[in-house]
Amino acid sequence: MSRLRDVGEFGLIARIAKLAKSAPHVIEGIGDDCAVLRLDKRILLVSCDLSMEGIHFLPGTPPEAIGWKSAASSLSDIAAMGGVPDFVLVSLACPPDCDVAFIERIYDGLFDALAQCGAVLIGGDTSRSPAGLLLDVTSIGEAAGDRWLTRKGARPGDCLVTTGHPGLSAAGLHALEHGHDAPALVRAHLQPTPRIPEGQWLASRAEVHAMIDISDGLAQDAGHLAEAGRLGVNIKKQLLPIHAELAAYAAEYGGAAEAFALAGGEDYELAFAVDAQACEEILAAFRREFRTPIAVVGRFNDAWHGVRVDGEPMAQGGFEHFKDR
Ligand code: ADP
Ligand code: MG
Repeated sequence: MSRLRDVGEFGLIARIAKLAKSAPHVIEGIGDDCAVLRLDKRILLVSCDLSMEGIHFLPGTPPEAIGWKSAASSLSDIAAMGGVPDFVLVSLACPPDCDVAFIERIYDGLFDALAQCGAVLIGGDTSRSPAGLLLDVTSIGEAAGDRWLTRKGARPGDCLVTTGHPGLSAAGLHALEHGHDAPALVRAHLQPTPRIPEGQWLASRAEVHAMIDISDGLAQDAGHLAEAGRLGVNIKKQLLPIHAELAAYAAEYGGAAEAFALAGGEDYELAFAVDAQACEEILAAFRREFRTPIAVVGRFNDAWHGVRVDGEPMAQGGFEHFKDR
């Protein structure tokens, strides 16, 4: 008998993908941030994301943050393709003794996240839960123009670029778990911003070849880009955009800021592959358009497969359900 612990989250998804049939309108099925469907001339993007008490949020998390983050993590997958989010559906399971006002506050947070990008709630499902809260948010959107990005498409020599400051969210979770006072990090963890306009802008540039959102950690998600392109990617520690708050937090509590940035998850930043010749110009144009930080952190190559940091394989890659807990 093979157990989930042994095959892991991605091993399980690969098995499920083998069982799934394709259909004429499915451009991308299982394996990318969103499913991509062609309906007449329109390109539809669909993704769902599960948030479970004790796994994705700690008991005691403010309800507005639960709602915001559940929506943000799902909308982020639309951002990862460069899409425009339009609609969401929410499936909710909660214990019968749950306070109704608490649930309403979850929806306040969720509606705030939707309002940020103009998406609307159009349905869902509700169930009793034997223990703990569970929310699953399905996002439906469409490609912004005639171009959308997938995880596949990185080319040898491309630069690996990230938005934002990866690692802030994981450090925020660490602070919450240890009762440390770090409001900026906790905010990054509880209220991540899906990079929707940034994603659309990046997808409109032909020199950007592939993209993913960082949900499982920069290194692991960069690894997904490399794997989809049958390439290797080398991340340089020295290039990591370490936020000053993260550096200070890591110094105070004995962790390595780089470890948070590489392996911490739930940043919901965008990581993408861009043509090396065009990279500097694209970053300069991005900075004129957005205040969101952006930095080159590595390079793709066809000499080997997988992800390395300063040329060395990583001991601990990032978050994977079943293996980590
Ligand atoms: P993300 O981190 O972007 O949300 P995941 O790692 O959760 O992506 O999922 C990777 C791919 O596998 C996606 O295409 C997703 O739709 C698909 N997937 C994940 N779990 C399942 C499942 N239980 N059944 C079918 N497809 C799944
Ligand atoms: Mg994703």
